[in-house]
Amino acid sequence: MKRQTLTQEILMNTGIIKKKASLFKVEPNLLDYKRVRKSFSWELAQKEIDFKEDKLNAAYNAVERNALNWRKNKIALYWMGADDQKEKFTFSELNQLSSQFANLLHDFSIDIGDRVFFFLSRVPTLYYGFLGTLKRGAIAGTMFAAFGPQAIEDRLGNSQAKILVTEPELFDRVAKVAHKLPHLETVLVTGEEKETNRLKIHGKKILNLPELLKKQSTSYKTRQMDPDDYAFMLYTSGTTGKPKGVVHAHRAIIHEHISAKYVLDLRDDDVYWCTADPGWVTGIAYEILGSWSNGAATVVYNGRFDPEVWYQIIQDYKVNVWYTAPTAIRMLQAAGSDLVRKYDLSSLRYLASVGEPLNPEPIRWGLKVFGLPFHDNWWQTETGGILIANYPSMDIKPGSMGKPLPGITAAIVDDEGKELPVGDEGNLAIKPGWPSMMKTIWRRPEKYESYFKRHWYISGDRAYKDKDGYFWFIGRADDVIKTSGERVGPFEVESALIEHQNVIEAGVIGKPDPLRGEIIKAFVKLKEGVRPSEKLKEDIQEFVKKHLAAHAYPREIEFIDKLPKTRSGKIMRRLLKAKELGLSLGDTSTLEEY
Ligand code: ATP
Ligand code: MG
Repeated sequence: MKRQTLTQEILMNTGIIKKKASLFKVEPNLLDYKRVRKSFSWELAQKEIDFKEDKLNAAYNAVERNALNWRKNKIALYWMGADDQKEKFTFSELNQLSSQFANLLHDFSIDIGDRVFFFLSRVPTLYYGFLGTLKRGAIAGTMFAAFGPQAIEDRLGNSQAKILVTEPELFDRVAKVAHKLPHLETVLVTGEEKETNRLKIHGKKILNLPELLKKQSTSYKTRQMDPDDYAFMLYTSGTTGKPKGVVHAHRAIIHEHISAKYVLDLRDDDVYWCTADPGWVTGIAYEILGSWSNGAATVVYNGRFDPEVWYQIIQDYKVNVWYTAPTAIRMLQAAGSDLVRKYDLSSLRYLASVGEPLNPEPIRWGLKVFGLPFHDNWWQTETGGILIANYPSMDIKPGSMGKPLPGITAAIVDDEGKELPVGDEGNLAIKPGWPSMMKTIWRRPEKYESYFKRHWYISGDRAYKDKDGYFWFIGRADDVIKTSGERVGPFEVESALIEHQNVIEAGVIGKPDPLRGEIIKAFVKLKEGVRPSEKLKEDIQEFVKKHLAAHAYPREIEFIDKLPKTRSGKIMRRLLKAKELGLSLGDTSTLEEY
């Protein structure tokens, strides 16, 4: 097989990764960004989605229509458990299982708008349960399996879910807080019936899910919904504060379908691996909805991060398209390039990344070891789908998030909502009205309203646009540092730090300083085996001064074994700052074990 390496070359003088269309292994779905962007309309895009008299259902579009067309016997899901268990499901099988789940919800009198929540690891039940809930017209909510009792209570309390689906291993955490959840009526548990029978929570029905499902019919008349009816909700990562309950409508499938096609370049014969968890929006939009609606087979691995297992998965399933996150890429890089060479990863065609800024260094590393660059893209739980991206056919400027998706207008605006010129730092803003824009923040309408200013959706991220229309992430609005009158984004300092040969990860904050307003402080994780020393600190400081800017080097460096991260893998700078200043840590329900 011809290696994709041929399609890219780094121009050493500019650092740009050039794409040569004539050498693509397969022609990208979005071959000509400019042309498509010009002729694009959401009305046209909508034609790729099945409507029935102006109504639609996201689950129908993701799975059911494939179960009714030529794809019905095609594999939709390759599932692998933590102990190497393997299962496969065709579109038809997924469709039947989700119909059984929808029928079960009917028996429980779950109706349009009721909340059904899932507290599961990445087991098959999560995928067909989610789809079945949408078929029924209820609102599906997901929670990451590593959450503790407080996080569960917050989410189920706020959403007032009536039904919770969980698994035996997670049951105890639910039992601890269930008495504080008056709306929760029923807990459905996976696994063996005799095990479920031992589980008790006073005042709640605890039932065995597999036994109940067995009795249900595999056909269900999927409810066709108003495009603006709510389909699913989930809570943000909690990087900047208390997680928000973001609600999305069935209409979101239009955006998720088109973006999966253009940005992830998905098609029927792809084996696609999205490493995100459906507890976060990436797992919902691009592991369930947009990816299946494009007919790709999805790989799901229900186990912990392990570089060797990850490469083995790519090799064994012959993964073509791989969508992951910067934190994982940096961890793979830390595991070394030699490891990569032990595996045959030649099936890979396209790599993408989301969730945090993707530093140039891991992009270059990817190019070196996989022969392919990672394509960064930007979006948020609230946006329901990718909005700014690097595309297969477009040159990459490493460190940039890329350009707006066709149909999306992005701009940099000041605090009054006025558009700023090229090169100026400001608020990253989007023209409202794209199909997957959140419908509301659950039971916090004022919070929802606060996102909009002067006809713009204000993302809360700071960025700038260059003369070629590429967007560059600077930092979250709260994280930007002001030192000696200069504004510095933590991302650029972190990117410079990890270019140093001994640094693997870094988190950067502004620390109050009587003289300079703030100074830059860096928390640095060193490569394995590197000894921390004062001399090394100086060396790193010199390195940043030289490679970034004299004013943007960290005056303070602290070596740290592990950076605090959300469970979705994002560096929690607010926690580094709170610890530094001896302040309260605030909401830590989404903090990774630390
Ligand atoms: P919370 O809103 O609760 O603080 P969160 O913002 O981390 O949590 P998400 O919606 O999961 O919750 O993450 C979206 C945010 O992640 C973006 O606003 C941005 O700050 C960051 N992000 C996502 N992708 C990128 C990217 N490609 N480059 C830079 N930042 C990114
Ligand atoms: Mg956010």
